[in-house]
Amino acid sequence: MALDSILDYPNVVPSDWIWKSPGYPKMQLFLWQMWWGRMPSNVNIHKRIPTTNKFCIFCPHMEEDMNHILRSCPRATEIWVGLKINLLRSNQLNDWLNLNLNNCEISPFAKVPINVIFGFALWFLWIRRNSWVFKKENIKSDVLIKKLCWAATEWFYTKSHTKVGKAPNPPASSTILQWTPPKTSYLKINTDASFLSSSKEACLAAVCRNELGIWVEGIQSKSLACDSAEAEIKAIFMALNWVRDKGWRKVIIATDSMIAWKATNTMTNLSTNTSSLSNECRVLSLELHDVTIIHEGRVTNALADALAKEAKGRRDGFNTICILSNPPPECLRIYDCELNNVLLTSSVEVQEPLTP
Ligand SMILES: [Zn+2]
Repeated sequence: MALDSILDYPNVVPSDWIWKSPGYPKMQLFLWQMWWGRMPSNVNIHKRIPTTNKFCIFCPHMEEDMNHILRSCPRATEIWVGLKINLLRSNQLNDWLNLNLNNCEISPFAKVPINVIFGFALWFLWIRRNSWVFKKENIKSDVLIKKLCWAATEWFYTKSHTKVGKAPNPPASSTILQWTPPKTSYLKINTDASFLSSSKEACLAAVCRNELGIWVEGIQSKSLACDSAEAEIKAIFMALNWVRDKGWRKVIIATDSMIAWKATNTMTNLSTNTSSLSNECRVLSLELHDVTIIHEGRVTNALADALAKEAKGRRDGFNTICILSNPPPECLRIYDCELNNVLLTSSVEVQEPLTP
């Protein structure tokens, strides 16, 4: 996932202070990723997929790196001016972050320390950028300032109380692609199939990720099927065999097909076409150690869906399994987005007050 190398910041020592900076754990993770140049800005995505646009959607001639999104884009500048925070344009992005995130003076704008307002402003600028990129939803600067000040103030005045306040709901923009990771020490495999009724061609895909949302491996294959339900069951069957061959334990296999899920979990046989295959799936999942097949909505299955569509272009012939040790370029944007989503949303937990 490292997009920029460490060489981009030769003078910077990795800093523990980020983990002590004000805000929720998801914000610290965001800062840490940014510090190391790992955020999926257009520039970073362009480095890996040269066909993508590296420019800011609001400033067509400016490259969209994190410095642009958070500091030099006029949309960002407006926020900092509103918050009375110095842009220090001559400073490198990381120096600017370091200075402000360690500044405990009270902000002239809100009655909380500057580092608190600053951290929340960075976070909300990133959220606003994503709202626009993924949902074409614009949040006006004055609204953004109000929201971030409210969130910063709430965080600041509840953090030291015995009863820790409830974190504000994660912004909707960070949950556009709602893939959720498996629980600790589990793997999650999403399966999908793309079926072409005219040729009966079924493109099957499965992608395995760990509890952090990190790509473990993917597989694709082409096959023939009578209908889309059979194609979906074939994808599950392919995934089960993969789990067996790999010797994986503790695996969640997720399909977005309710029919395929029912067929492989219960004794409901759809038709003679799929009944023997469904049976084989049930037998195989029982043989494997702690493997569960679940059904989740389509919105959670975007990566497997993209992978299945991408498999159409394969020329390996039918029933050949193609192993992908990395996400193909066509699927990188979804992968990055979901990975980011896990990093940014998973770690906010409301702490229970300590009982004496
Ligand atoms: Zn811009």
